[in-house]
Amino acid sequence: MRLVQNMSTIAEYPGTDCLSNRVIKIAVVGGSGVGKTALVVRFLTKRFIGDYERNAGSLYSRDVQLDGEQVAIQVQDTPGVQVNANGLSCTDHVTRSIQWADAVVMVYSVTDHRSFDLIGQLHQLVSHAHAERSTLPPIILLANKADLLHVRRVDAQQGPLLASALSCFFYEVSASEDYSQVHSAFHRLCRELAKQQPLPSQPSVTAAGS
Ligand code: GDP
Repeated sequence: MRLVQNMSTIAEYPGTDCLSNRVIKIAVVGGSGVGKTALVVRFLTKRFIGDYERNAGSLYSRDVQLDGEQVAIQVQDTPGVQVNANGLSCTDHVTRSIQWADAVVMVYSVTDHRSFDLIGQLHQLVSHAHAERSTLPPIILLANKADLLHVRRVDAQQGPLLASALSCFFYEVSASEDYSQVHSAFHRLCRELAKQQPLPSQPSVTAAGS
């Protein structure tokens, strides 16, 4: 039996009930089939949905508690990029999503070396898209499908080395097997952003008559 989950069960942006002080915009980018959508679904719903309505390119929003603060996280899933003779072929959608985002998740699959090979070019795309800013947005590199050890094509050491060369955080994760690492990775990204862009302090309320 095939489980087909309609992604509209996730609160899809634009939401009208956002009570959060802060909105964090995250773009998820990478090659095709690396598990971008599965990771977004896993993070937002805690579930792995093996087969679901193909809806790459959707924007989802959910309020979460981050270190005691209520934040609205908007996650932009994007179509997969590929390399062709002219370099990285990526849709305008991916570029616009990167420009829109405050923070970026780059994903490759440990089972697909080509998806790993595109990460350097994706990182350049992020750098160009944010060239006018003094600092790059926080970026996290996710090596997905860690459960598929028997078909691993990217050595476990390669991911951390690349992440360190690109000054990104690195997590090896499995959207299908493990929620906790996916959760930790997205939350780390949000914390880094909060450090980079602290909320303006609230005006202090002075007690009447004091
Ligand atoms: P996208 O094109 O990058 O959005 O990739 P999808 O999220 O559509 O995933 C592509 C395929 O990989 C689907 O069949 C998923 O069920 C499967 N998949 C995604 N993540 C994992 C994972 O961590 N482990 C395994 N075994 N399969 C995964």
